[in-house]
Amino acid sequence: MRAMLLEKPRPVDENPLRLAELPLPVPAAGEIRIRVRACAVCHTDLHIVEGDLPLPKLPIVPGHQIVGTVDALGEGVTEFREGDRVGVPWLYSTCGECPYCLKGLENLCERGRFTGYHVDGGYAEAMVAPAAFAYELPANFADLDAAPLLCAGVIGYRALKLSNVQPGERLGLYGFGASAHIVIQMARHMGCHVYVFTRAESHRQMARLLGAEWTGAAGDPAPAELDAAIIFAPAGKLVPEALRALRKGGTLALAGITMSAIPEIEYRLLYQERVLRSVANSTREDVRSFLRLAAEIPVRTEIEPFQLPEANHALENLKSSRIHGAGVLVI
Ligand SMILES: [Zn+2]
Ligand SMILES: [Zn+2]
Repeated sequence: MRAMLLEKPRPVDENPLRLAELPLPVPAAGEIRIRVRACAVCHTDLHIVEGDLPLPKLPIVPGHQIVGTVDALGEGVTEFREGDRVGVPWLYSTCGECPYCLKGLENLCERGRFTGYHVDGGYAEAMVAPAAFAYELPANFADLDAAPLLCAGVIGYRALKLSNVQPGERLGLYGFGASAHIVIQMARHMGCHVYVFTRAESHRQMARLLGAEWTGAAGDPAPAELDAAIIFAPAGKLVPEALRALRKGGTLALAGITMSAIPEIEYRLLYQERVLRSVANSTREDVRSFLRLAAEIPVRTEIEPFQLPEANHALENLKSSRIHGAGVLVI
């Protein structure tokens, strides 16, 4: 099978991913093999190929927003049949027995494995995944439209939940990539007022189209105090900006897997019970709840398609904010 393989991390403009011919993976007990149809690209993939994250496996095939068709079953699989359409997200497997798993925080599992990071992912014609960590996808999404739901959507859903924003409240979004595109639709569905802080005018236009009440650049004074805010951009300097806009007792959630250093702040920015928290991975329950909600709203995803061998190019576009919505590899 064809796959985009990372052997050594490098800046994305040096084409770190190489088109390779790999043996077709064989599903072990409890696993399914998936013939991949689409895999959306994510900022985490960019951090992997550029080596911003420690890499537990090399070479690796990235990709963790996978939509495809089950084409082989490992021993004992009862959840799916050949031909079923499934999605595979970032959370690939958990141990089920560590203190976090037992507390319902499997997103923080001590031995959690992640798709396209600990194991080969979806920048390939096929991949294998545990059946217990794959999901049936709502029928109202075409393959390409469903792909960004699996990380941009799921992480956005968890970030929105952890921001503790309540129906009708004021929510600030910092950065307007694929995840924020989906979060704004969930927030509007809750009747929230959404304020979007982003540099590019084209992103602001899209935010207004999707129901933002106000748009501006980071650092612009918000038109009203925020009840909650989410930072998607990996820029630590946004943290004091967002805290400054937040009301007493409000929550600021950080949705990224990595971020540049957060500048020193005066305690008064955090005092008055403001909450600053990060968002890590997601649980299977998050995925299921989000997919139900996405079908109900229904969430609209903006797609920019690329062919599999163009994966470097897709990531380069993501890095320079030239993608509006989600970049998706068509496989
Ligand atoms: Zn665990
Ligand atoms: Zn992701």
